[in-house]
Amino acid sequence: MTDAHILVVGGAGYIGSHMVKFLGRQGCQVTTLDNLSGGFRDAVLHGAFVQGDLADRAQLDRLFASQRFDAVMHFASFIQVGESVQQPAKYYQNNVVNTLNLLDAMRVAGVGRFIFSSTAAIFGEPQSARIDEAHPKAPINPYGRTKLMVEQVLEDYDRAYGLKSVCLRYFNAAGADPEGELGERHEPETHLIPLVLQAASGRRPHISVFGRDYETPDGTCIRDYVHINDLCQAHWLALRSLMAGGQSQAYNLGNGSGFSVQEVIDAARRVTGRDIPVQYAERRAGDPARLVADSTRAQTALGWQPAFAALDTLVEHAWRWELRRTASVS
Ligand code: UDP
Repeated sequence: MTDAHILVVGGAGYIGSHMVKFLGRQGCQVTTLDNLSGGFRDAVLHGAFVQGDLADRAQLDRLFASQRFDAVMHFASFIQVGESVQQPAKYYQNNVVNTLNLLDAMRVAGVGRFIFSSTAAIFGEPQSARIDEAHPKAPINPYGRTKLMVEQVLEDYDRAYGLKSVCLRYFNAAGADPEGELGERHEPETHLIPLVLQAASGRRPHISVFGRDYETPDGTCIRDYVHINDLCQAHWLALRSLMAGGQSQAYNLGNGSGFSVQEVIDAARRVTGRDIPVQYAERRAGDPARLVADSTRAQTALGWQPAFAALDTLVEHAWRWELRRTASVS
């Protein structure tokens, strides 16, 4: 298992780069394929790097012909909900069509294991306090629809071609490498925790809180923030299950405890010891009041247990990264 060769598509991005490091630590051989549209070459800390785009089928065929991969992990997709509403073609093209290219290249090459980055957005408006795998799937934006489409494709490909896959539906991926080497570097940044910490470090004047009239105890939205290393651990367990001949599966990944926007800001004040100016703003379109995972299936079937469930730990790791970033840009 530890000598497995894994192709990490999108390995230069936020989650992919942490995964590449994690696989390296496990002793795996790793090849990253990334077009560097959102990722960074210097975030790939282990293995081989190939710059390329999933739209380039000929390059994919050459890559699969040149090496033997035991499994593919696919992190390369566009992730901004608002942008997906404005520019759906961009999302369907990359997240669906390009993923089909990848799957077909795998099929031709006889690579039969696939781990897919999916999302809580496939569920749409929450119908229950915690979202488990049986929750109805009714995405409310193109981003969520692209991810659900690929999940459906994967079911059909298993039935017809025997491709085994694990879909991992992240809730709010957050935090940074506990050793401080990697972290979140989205351009533009839209996620709450890095933005709060940029307000703490002075890279931004304030954090805008999108709505404080939700039906939650403090009126701000509740989300399930799951540490990036815990996500990597889940991928590792999923990979092991596939390598051991396991069946295709889908898992919801979160901490199972939600934190409000206000609680995140309070945690950031505690961890950083800095003042964090807040501005209250309008609600952001499409934000449900509360999104919390039920990850019982991942816990029982994979033995997954988040190791960094405490909000302060997660914020502390992200803060260490923000301080490093601030030092490097100043
Ligand atoms: N949020 C906020 N201000 C920001 C960015 C996000 O109040 O500048 C809120 C957002 O409305 C949501 C939560 O923080 O309730 C998490 O948002 P994020 O974009 O990090 O992740 P999402 O839940 O959209 O995947």
